[in-house]
Amino acid sequence: MSTIQKIKGTRDFFDLDAEKFRYIEQVCSNEIKKFGFKEMITPIFENTAVFNRLGEQSDIVTKEMYSFFDRSNRSITLRPEGTAPVVRAFIENKIYANSIDVNKYFYFGPIFRYERPQAGRYRQFHQFGVEAFGNSTAILDVDIILSAWTIIEKLNLQNIVLKINTIGDLSSRDKYQKALVEYFNKYTDKLCNDCKVRLEKNPMRILDCKVDVNQDFMKNAPKIKDYLSQESIDYFNEVLRGLDTFGIKYEIDENLVRGLDYYTDTVFEFIIKSDDELNNLAICAGGKYGNLVKDLNGPDIPGVGYAFGVERLIELMDRQNVWPSLKINPEIFIMALDEQSKIEAQRLALYLRKLGLKVEFDYKNISMKPQFRLSEKLNVEYILIIGENERKENLITVKDVANKTQVTIPISDLLNYLPYELINAKEGFCYDENAQ
Ligand code: ATP
Ligand code: MG
Repeated sequence: MSTIQKIKGTRDFFDLDAEKFRYIEQVCSNEIKKFGFKEMITPIFENTAVFNRLGEQSDIVTKEMYSFFDRSNRSITLRPEGTAPVVRAFIENKIYANSIDVNKYFYFGPIFRYERPQAGRYRQFHQFGVEAFGNSTAILDVDIILSAWTIIEKLNLQNIVLKINTIGDLSSRDKYQKALVEYFNKYTDKLCNDCKVRLEKNPMRILDCKVDVNQDFMKNAPKIKDYLSQESIDYFNEVLRGLDTFGIKYEIDENLVRGLDYYTDTVFEFIIKSDDELNNLAICAGGKYGNLVKDLNGPDIPGVGYAFGVERLIELMDRQNVWPSLKINPEIFIMALDEQSKIEAQRLALYLRKLGLKVEFDYKNISMKPQFRLSEKLNVEYILIIGENERKENLITVKDVANKTQVTIPISDLLNYLPYELINAKEGFCYDENAQ
């Protein structure tokens, strides 16, 4: 029988990859908490209605959702993005009623989209995202972008470009949509099939098309900036001034419209600049959504947010070789040379583990060779050896693997022989001489 394989477009994370995944989660959540965000954990499936408001013509809703009927015939969808569930929870739990001016939440977890798997594109991937509900100020938009930039810096990523645009308020967009329809009507024979439908239902989506993007007529399409209300223009300029103040470099990209219907005014993406197939892929995308909370039957409260794609971050950090040293190996290996020492090894391992050290020992072997082999495979820093002699005289042999030195010392002295960094690095460690 052939082995069962994972679903196409999904990944297993283990060993160092799992550590990288958690490292990114840690950095993102640590940094964003400093910006005043709290965590929101929502279910990974929702009533399909939660997502229908994302836009009838968005790729996500039309082509990419994993929707199914459960055993009671309810239409359920595995979340294809993180904003709508957070908005649903924000409304359902009446978080808006807590009289905090701006409510700020972050989330981290799996997202499901039925897409064609390729570099940086999966069917289950993970997003770290943030949403700030409350007021509509350029200074909040800037703070949101600053928080994303802080994470990019903290992860040590290089060659990331911020692309930014405004898509204006609803009235600006109405005028703009009309102009687009008039323009693209001249090119219907050249549009891809999806764009032909978009032309009827939501012409702005054509600008986001991955198929037609390089066609000449796309470059000459009407630009939103010629249709903006004065208010939207002023708002956008204020955002740009804020970015200038903090030295955040950006490129204004007039074709940046984002794939979902709920955005208004500021939209942005952080994209990769490289000479391989990751070039121009977005690692983070977001913007302001004036109407989503209202559209989901909540109060009239605007939001702004973004989401990072975790797999793309990992792939990029691999290629740019910017990881800090992430250790998955145990620090200490305890070798027992007879049956009775085995139990001593286990006792000592437990003691050291409680102090916060990563400790491993061999469960079965008492001869040296297989135990050395295992300690080599585990790539440990120290080997502690307990044999009959050591046991009888309360001694222990400490082998420093890197320096190839070995000493036999009273076991009560052990902690003094392990390097300061190893022990002191452990949070909350406090050496208690009487601890057993
Ligand atoms: P793209 O234009 O690349 O399709 P998107 O506009 O669909 O991206 P968003 O919905 O804004 O992306 O999601 C935010 C981030 O999630 C993206 O910038 C990207 O890093 C990541 N992402 C989106 N789709 C995928 C996917 N299929 N696999 C892995 N990461 C993804
Ligand atoms: Mg997409």
